[in-house]
Amino acid sequence: KIESKDYKGKVFNLEVEDDNSYISEALAVHNCWTPWFGVFGSKSGFDSLKEAFQDQVKHIHAIETGLSSDPPMNWRLKELDSINLVSFSDAHSFWPWRIGREATVFEFKELTYDNLIKAIRTGNGLKETVEFFPEGGKYHFDGHRNCGVCFSPEESKKHNLICPVCKKPLTLGVEFRVEQLATRHPGKKPDSARPFKSLIPLMELISAITKSSVSSQKNWKIFYELIKNFGNEFNVLLNAPIDSIKSISNDKIADYIERNRNQKIKFKPGFDGEYGKPLFEDKESQETQKRLNASQKSLNEF
Ligand SMILES: [Zn+2]
Ligand SMILES: [Zn+2]
Repeated sequence: KIESKDYKGKVFNLEVEDDNSYISEALAVHNCWTPWFGVFGSKSGFDSLKEAFQDQVKHIHAIETGLSSDPPMNWRLKELDSINLVSFSDAHSFWPWRIGREATVFEFKELTYDNLIKAIRTGNGLKETVEFFPEGGKYHFDGHRNCGVCFSPEESKKHNLICPVCKKPLTLGVEFRVEQLATRHPGKKPDSARPFKSLIPLMELISAITKSSVSSQKNWKIFYELIKNFGNEFNVLLNAPIDSIKSISNDKIADYIERNRNQKIKFKPGFDGEYGKPLFEDKESQETQKRLNASQKSLNEF
């Protein structure tokens, strides 16, 4: 619903000087898979970029995967094979650990606007992306929070999209929507696919270990100690020698960073309004798997 509102105060003008235009070239920014109203959302009214942008679709050369999706989810749509996938912070708030939680790695000789926009348009110079886990979103899988039912799209279909506990329709998530629009099997990728890494921000790793809030003084101390030594967060997460991290902070932090770097951390998917969460401990991850299997068994008896 769109409403109008009186406003008195500053507005920011994004006009391009001299050019007097408001050109934002070449890409559809922000979360294209946002659960309901992203361009591919189930309530957007569109099933493809072509439908949404019609003859103007020729101007779209890239889309931002956003927090709700990662490259493999987008690879399922052949329509996107010719579209470059980019990722940016999708910060939502000003907290430092929200900045750079997603990113695009470019590679070109000189950092100029021209080179940047060319890379986004043509893909030349676009190297890889850093992604957060789409499983962390509140509507990744399907289910009912109150009934304790969390299903993958496949399981939902097996249950005819009906909750086996309360017999009402399941709340369907983004993965289900992907499945609905998919024109390629999962696990397959287009020739145009670029590498990517899924990373959990450093501050979230630290706070999972200290079991205290992301903004606590204790955590900042550990965080800055690492930044001081290795320059920036990406360098800590991706490149810094694990042994040096160990000696600067401790074994556990080094271990979490190493597993994050090696893509070894699993995620419990969010569903029906509940955020997903990282399973840092193998034990934790095994227990969740056991519980999922057990609930699967008891549900199959319905
Ligand atoms: Zn967003
Ligand atoms: Zn239910």
